[in-house]
Amino acid sequence: MNIEEKENTSVPFIKITGLQKYYGQFQALHDVNLTIGKGQVLALIGPSGSGKSTLVRCINLLEQYQKGTIEVDGIVVKDGRNLSKVRAEVGMVFQQFNLFPHMSALRNVAIAPVRVRGMSWEEAEKKALTLLERVGLTAHAHKRPSQLSGGQQQRVAIARALAMEPQVLLFDEPTSALDPEMVGEVLDVIQKVAETGVTMLIVTHEMSFARRVSDRVIFMEQGRVIEDSPPDEFFGSSPRTDRAQLFIRSVLQGHGDLPVPAATLAIE
Ligand code: ADP
Repeated sequence: MNIEEKENTSVPFIKITGLQKYYGQFQALHDVNLTIGKGQVLALIGPSGSGKSTLVRCINLLEQYQKGTIEVDGIVVKDGRNLSKVRAEVGMVFQQFNLFPHMSALRNVAIAPVRVRGMSWEEAEKKALTLLERVGLTAHAHKRPSQLSGGQQQRVAIARALAMEPQVLLFDEPTSALDPEMVGEVLDVIQKVAETGVTMLIVTHEMSFARRVSDRVIFMEQGRVIEDSPPDEFFGSSPRTDRAQLFIRSVLQGHGDLPVPAATLAIE
Protein backbone atom coordinates (compact mmCIF):
# COMPACT_ATOMS: atom_id res chain seq x y z
CA MET A 1 0.00 0.00 0.00
CA ASN A 2 1.40 3.44 -0.85
CA ILE A 3 1.38 6.45 1.47
CA GLU A 4 -1.57 8.14 -0.22
CA GLU A 5 -3.73 5.03 0.16
CA LYS A 6 -2.68 4.62 3.78
CA GLU A 7 -3.90 8.13 4.46
CA ASN A 8 -7.24 7.23 2.91
CA THR A 9 -7.76 4.53 5.50
CA SER A 10 -8.52 7.14 8.14
CA VAL A 11 -11.73 8.21 6.33
CA PRO A 12 -14.72 6.20 7.65
CA PHE A 13 -16.32 4.59 4.65
CA ILE A 14 -18.44 1.73 5.95
CA LYS A 15 -20.23 2.15 9.27
CA ILE A 16 -21.98 -0.79 10.87
CA THR A 17 -23.75 -0.02 14.12
CA GLY A 18 -25.62 -2.38 16.44
CA LEU A 19 -26.28 -4.88 13.66
CA GLN A 20 -28.57 -7.78 14.56
CA LYS A 21 -29.68 -10.41 12.11
CA TYR A 22 -32.12 -13.27 12.65
CA TYR A 23 -32.97 -16.24 10.48
CA GLY A 24 -36.42 -16.95 11.92
CA GLN A 25 -35.82 -17.43 15.66
CA PHE A 26 -32.08 -17.93 15.25
CA GLN A 27 -29.91 -14.90 15.88
CA ALA A 28 -27.00 -15.02 13.45
CA LEU A 29 -25.50 -11.59 14.26
CA HIS A 30 -25.39 -9.98 17.70
CA ASP A 31 -24.70 -6.28 17.98
CA VAL A 32 -21.96 -6.05 15.37
CA ASN A 33 -20.20 -2.68 15.29
CA LEU A 34 -17.51 -1.94 12.72
CA THR A 35 -16.13 1.23 11.21
CA ILE A 36 -14.06 0.63 8.11
CA GLY A 37 -11.82 3.22 6.51
CA LYS A 38 -11.69 3.84 2.79
CA GLY A 39 -9.17 1.49 1.22
CA GLN A 40 -8.90 -0.75 4.26
CA VAL A 41 -8.70 -4.49 3.77
CA LEU A 42 -10.36 -6.60 6.44
CA ALA A 43 -9.93 -10.34 6.79
CA LEU A 44 -12.96 -11.96 8.43
CA ILE A 45 -12.03 -15.19 10.10
CA GLY A 46 -13.66 -17.55 12.57
CA PRO A 47 -15.28 -20.95 12.87
CA SER A 48 -17.93 -22.15 10.47
CA GLY A 49 -21.34 -20.72 11.36
CA SER A 50 -19.93 -17.69 13.20
CA GLY A 51 -21.76 -15.25 10.94
CA LYS A 52 -18.99 -14.10 8.58
CA SER A 53 -20.92 -14.79 5.41
CA THR A 54 -24.10 -13.32 6.87
CA LEU A 55 -22.26 -10.13 7.73
CA VAL A 56 -20.87 -9.58 4.24
CA ARG A 57 -24.21 -10.51 2.68
CA CYS A 58 -25.95 -7.84 4.78
CA ILE A 59 -23.53 -5.23 3.44
CA ASN A 60 -24.74 -5.64 -0.14
CA LEU A 61 -28.37 -6.39 0.73
CA LEU A 62 -28.30 -10.06 -0.14
CA GLU A 63 -29.69 -10.47 3.37
CA GLN A 64 -32.07 -8.26 5.28
CA TYR A 65 -31.29 -7.49 8.91
CA GLN A 66 -33.63 -6.62 11.75
CA LYS A 67 -31.81 -4.07 13.90
CA GLY A 68 -28.94 -1.64 13.58
CA THR A 69 -27.63 0.31 10.63
CA ILE A 70 -25.21 -0.16 7.79
CA GLU A 71 -23.92 2.77 5.78
CA VAL A 72 -21.60 2.55 2.81
CA ASP A 73 -20.16 5.85 1.61
CA GLY A 74 -23.10 7.61 3.27
CA ILE A 75 -25.67 5.35 1.57
CA VAL A 76 -28.09 3.64 3.96
CA VAL A 77 -28.09 -0.10 3.28
CA LYS A 78 -31.49 -1.30 4.43
CA ASP A 79 -34.65 -3.06 3.21
CA GLY A 80 -34.01 -2.84 -0.50
CA ARG A 81 -33.82 0.93 -0.17
CA ASN A 82 -31.02 2.29 -2.35
CA LEU A 83 -30.58 -1.20 -3.78
CA SER A 84 -29.16 -0.05 -7.11
CA LYS A 85 -26.88 2.50 -5.44
CA VAL A 86 -25.61 -0.14 -3.03
CA ARG A 87 -25.01 -2.68 -5.77
CA ALA A 88 -23.18 -0.05 -7.83
CA GLU A 89 -20.76 0.61 -4.95
CA VAL A 90 -20.42 -2.87 -3.53
CA GLY A 91 -19.22 -5.84 -5.60
CA MET A 92 -19.16 -9.41 -4.42
CA VAL A 93 -17.16 -12.51 -5.24
CA PHE A 94 -18.70 -15.80 -4.09
CA GLN A 95 -17.31 -19.18 -3.18
CA GLN A 96 -19.11 -20.69 -6.16
CA PHE A 97 -18.17 -18.44 -9.04
CA ASN A 98 -21.75 -17.93 -10.31
CA LEU A 99 -20.71 -17.20 -13.89
CA PHE A 100 -23.24 -17.43 -16.71
CA PRO A 101 -22.44 -20.86 -18.21
CA HIS A 102 -23.59 -20.02 -21.73
CA MET A 103 -21.44 -16.90 -22.07
CA SER A 104 -17.73 -16.47 -22.75
CA ALA A 105 -15.48 -15.10 -20.03
CA LEU A 106 -15.46 -11.82 -21.95
CA ARG A 107 -19.27 -11.55 -21.99
CA ASN A 108 -19.49 -12.54 -18.34
CA VAL A 109 -17.27 -9.58 -17.49
CA ALA A 110 -18.91 -7.19 -19.93
CA ILE A 111 -22.56 -7.88 -19.26
CA ALA A 112 -23.15 -5.90 -16.06
CA PRO A 113 -21.82 -2.57 -17.41
CA VAL A 114 -24.06 -3.09 -20.47
CA ARG A 115 -27.20 -4.06 -18.54
CA VAL A 116 -26.78 -1.83 -15.50
CA ARG A 117 -24.81 1.11 -16.81
CA GLY A 118 -26.11 1.16 -20.38
CA MET A 119 -22.60 0.89 -21.80
CA SER A 120 -22.31 -0.29 -25.42
CA TRP A 121 -21.15 -3.89 -25.93
CA GLU A 122 -18.15 -2.61 -27.84
CA GLU A 123 -17.00 -0.40 -25.00
CA ALA A 124 -17.83 -2.96 -22.32
CA GLU A 125 -15.92 -5.72 -24.09
CA LYS A 126 -12.91 -3.48 -24.55
CA LYS A 127 -12.93 -2.78 -20.85
CA ALA A 128 -13.54 -6.46 -20.07
CA LEU A 129 -10.45 -7.40 -22.07
CA THR A 130 -8.35 -5.01 -20.00
CA LEU A 131 -9.74 -6.56 -16.81
CA LEU A 132 -9.14 -10.09 -18.06
CA GLU A 133 -5.57 -9.07 -18.80
CA ARG A 134 -5.27 -7.81 -15.22
CA VAL A 135 -6.30 -11.21 -13.88
CA GLY A 136 -4.03 -13.02 -16.36
CA LEU A 137 -6.70 -14.44 -18.63
CA THR A 138 -6.30 -12.67 -21.96
CA ALA A 139 -5.77 -15.96 -23.76
CA HIS A 140 -9.00 -17.38 -22.32
CA ALA A 141 -11.34 -14.49 -23.03
CA HIS A 142 -13.48 -16.39 -25.51
CA LYS A 143 -13.83 -19.57 -23.51
CA ARG A 144 -16.97 -20.52 -21.61
CA PRO A 145 -16.76 -21.26 -17.87
CA SER A 146 -16.90 -25.04 -18.50
CA GLN A 147 -13.69 -24.74 -20.52
CA LEU A 148 -11.85 -23.04 -17.66
CA SER A 149 -10.35 -24.37 -14.44
CA GLY A 150 -11.89 -23.40 -11.10
CA GLY A 151 -9.09 -20.92 -10.45
CA GLN A 152 -9.57 -19.35 -13.87
CA GLN A 153 -13.32 -19.12 -13.34
CA GLN A 154 -12.82 -17.38 -10.04
CA ARG A 155 -10.44 -14.92 -11.70
CA VAL A 156 -13.15 -14.20 -14.27
CA ALA A 157 -15.56 -13.62 -11.38
CA ILE A 158 -13.13 -11.12 -9.86
CA ALA A 159 -12.78 -9.33 -13.22
CA ARG A 160 -16.58 -9.28 -13.47
CA ALA A 161 -16.87 -7.67 -10.04
CA LEU A 162 -14.23 -5.08 -11.00
CA ALA A 163 -16.10 -4.22 -14.21
CA MET A 164 -18.63 -2.24 -12.18
CA GLU A 165 -15.79 -0.22 -10.62
CA PRO A 166 -16.98 -0.88 -7.07
CA GLN A 167 -15.75 1.12 -4.13
CA VAL A 168 -16.11 -1.94 -1.94
CA LEU A 169 -15.43 -5.58 -2.76
CA LEU A 170 -16.73 -8.41 -0.62
CA PHE A 171 -15.19 -11.86 -0.93
CA ASP A 172 -17.05 -14.78 0.62
CA GLU A 173 -14.54 -17.63 0.93
CA PRO A 174 -13.26 -17.07 -2.60
CA THR A 175 -10.89 -20.04 -2.58
CA SER A 176 -12.90 -22.62 -0.64
CA ALA A 177 -14.29 -24.35 -3.72
CA LEU A 178 -10.90 -24.60 -5.43
CA ASP A 179 -8.44 -27.44 -5.73
CA PRO A 180 -5.41 -26.59 -3.60
CA GLU A 181 -3.12 -25.96 -6.56
CA MET A 182 -5.41 -23.17 -7.78
CA VAL A 183 -5.71 -21.28 -4.53
CA GLY A 184 -2.46 -19.34 -4.97
CA GLU A 185 -3.32 -17.85 -8.37
CA VAL A 186 -6.63 -16.51 -7.03
CA LEU A 187 -5.08 -15.12 -3.83
CA ASP A 188 -2.39 -13.38 -5.91
CA VAL A 189 -5.10 -11.66 -7.96
CA ILE A 190 -7.01 -10.62 -4.81
CA GLN A 191 -3.80 -9.24 -3.33
CA LYS A 192 -3.18 -7.18 -6.47
CA VAL A 193 -6.71 -5.77 -6.27
CA ALA A 194 -6.17 -4.93 -2.60
CA GLU A 195 -3.12 -2.88 -3.56
CA THR A 196 -5.28 -0.64 -5.76
CA GLY A 197 -7.02 0.90 -2.74
CA VAL A 198 -10.44 -0.75 -3.06
CA THR A 199 -12.06 -1.25 0.36
CA MET A 200 -12.30 -4.99 0.88
CA LEU A 201 -13.83 -7.48 3.30
CA ILE A 202 -12.54 -10.98 2.76
CA VAL A 203 -14.01 -14.03 4.46
CA THR A 204 -11.20 -16.54 4.34
CA HIS A 205 -9.68 -19.60 5.96
CA GLU A 206 -6.30 -18.84 4.40
CA MET A 207 -4.47 -17.55 7.44
CA SER A 208 -1.14 -16.66 5.84
CA PHE A 209 -3.01 -14.77 3.13
CA ALA A 210 -5.12 -12.96 5.76
CA ARG A 211 -1.93 -11.93 7.50
CA ARG A 212 -0.24 -10.81 4.32
CA VAL A 213 -3.06 -8.87 2.70
CA SER A 214 -5.17 -7.37 5.47
CA ASP A 215 -4.94 -4.20 7.52
CA ARG A 216 -7.25 -5.65 10.15
CA VAL A 217 -8.24 -9.12 11.21
CA ILE A 218 -11.79 -9.49 12.46
CA PHE A 219 -12.33 -12.68 14.41
CA MET A 220 -15.97 -13.71 14.75
CA GLU A 221 -17.65 -16.30 16.86
CA GLN A 222 -21.35 -17.02 17.36
CA GLY A 223 -22.40 -13.91 15.51
CA ARG A 224 -20.16 -11.56 17.45
CA VAL A 225 -16.95 -9.76 16.63
CA ILE A 226 -14.60 -11.10 19.28
CA GLU A 227 -11.37 -9.48 18.12
CA ASP A 228 -10.42 -6.66 15.79
CA SER A 229 -6.65 -6.42 15.54
CA PRO A 230 -3.82 -5.59 13.14
CA PRO A 231 -2.68 -8.85 11.51
CA ASP A 232 0.78 -8.86 13.04
CA GLU A 233 -0.72 -8.51 16.47
CA PHE A 234 -3.38 -11.13 15.82
CA PHE A 235 -1.07 -13.72 14.31
CA GLY A 236 2.22 -12.64 15.82
CA SER A 237 1.92 -12.06 19.50
CA SER A 238 -0.98 -14.35 20.27
CA PRO A 239 -4.56 -13.12 19.94
CA ARG A 240 -6.26 -11.83 23.04
CA THR A 241 -8.99 -14.43 23.41
CA ASP A 242 -8.47 -18.13 24.13
CA ARG A 243 -11.05 -18.97 21.50
CA ALA A 244 -9.15 -17.16 18.74
CA GLN A 245 -5.92 -18.85 19.83
CA LEU A 246 -7.64 -22.23 19.67
CA PHE A 247 -9.09 -21.44 16.27
CA ILE A 248 -5.74 -20.43 14.79
CA ARG A 249 -4.03 -23.47 16.24
CA SER A 250 -6.73 -25.69 14.79
CA VAL A 251 -6.51 -24.11 11.33
CA LEU A 252 -2.72 -24.25 11.32
CA GLN A 253 -2.87 -27.93 12.24
CA GLY A 254 -5.10 -28.42 9.21
CA HIS A 255 -8.33 -29.23 11.01
CA GLY A 256 -10.17 -26.38 9.32
CA ASP A 257 -13.20 -25.20 11.19
CA LEU A 258 -13.59 -25.74 14.86
CA PRO A 259 -16.98 -27.00 15.87
CA VAL A 260 -18.92 -24.58 18.03
CA PRO A 261 -19.26 -26.09 21.51
CA ALA A 262 -22.80 -27.41 22.08
CA ALA A 263 -23.15 -25.39 25.27
CA THR A 264 -22.75 -22.18 23.29
CA LEU A 265 -25.34 -22.97 20.63
CA ALA A 266 -28.38 -22.05 22.70
CA ILE A 267 -30.68 -19.59 20.99
CA GLU A 268 -30.91 -16.36 22.85
P1 ADP B 1 -20.05 -18.44 8.44
O1 ADP B 1 -19.97 -17.66 7.18
O2 ADP B 1 -19.22 -17.88 9.55
O3 ADP B 1 -19.79 -19.91 8.23
P2 ADP B 1 -22.89 -17.98 8.22
O4 ADP B 1 -23.04 -16.52 8.18
O5 ADP B 1 -22.99 -18.74 6.94
O6 ADP B 1 -21.54 -18.36 8.99
O7 ADP B 1 -23.97 -18.60 9.20
C1 ADP B 1 -24.19 -18.06 10.51
C2 ADP B 1 -25.30 -18.86 11.15
O8 ADP B 1 -26.53 -18.58 10.49
C3 ADP B 1 -25.11 -20.37 11.08
O9 ADP B 1 -25.59 -20.94 12.27
C4 ADP B 1 -25.97 -20.77 9.91
O10 ADP B 1 -26.45 -22.09 10.07
C5 ADP B 1 -27.10 -19.77 9.98
N1 ADP B 1 -27.66 -19.48 8.66
C6 ADP B 1 -26.98 -19.00 7.59
N2 ADP B 1 -27.79 -18.83 6.54
C7 ADP B 1 -29.02 -19.22 6.94
C8 ADP B 1 -30.30 -19.29 6.32
N3 ADP B 1 -30.46 -18.88 5.05
N4 ADP B 1 -31.32 -19.74 7.05
C9 ADP B 1 -31.18 -20.12 8.34
N5 ADP B 1 -30.00 -20.08 9.00
C10 ADP B 1 -28.94 -19.63 8.32
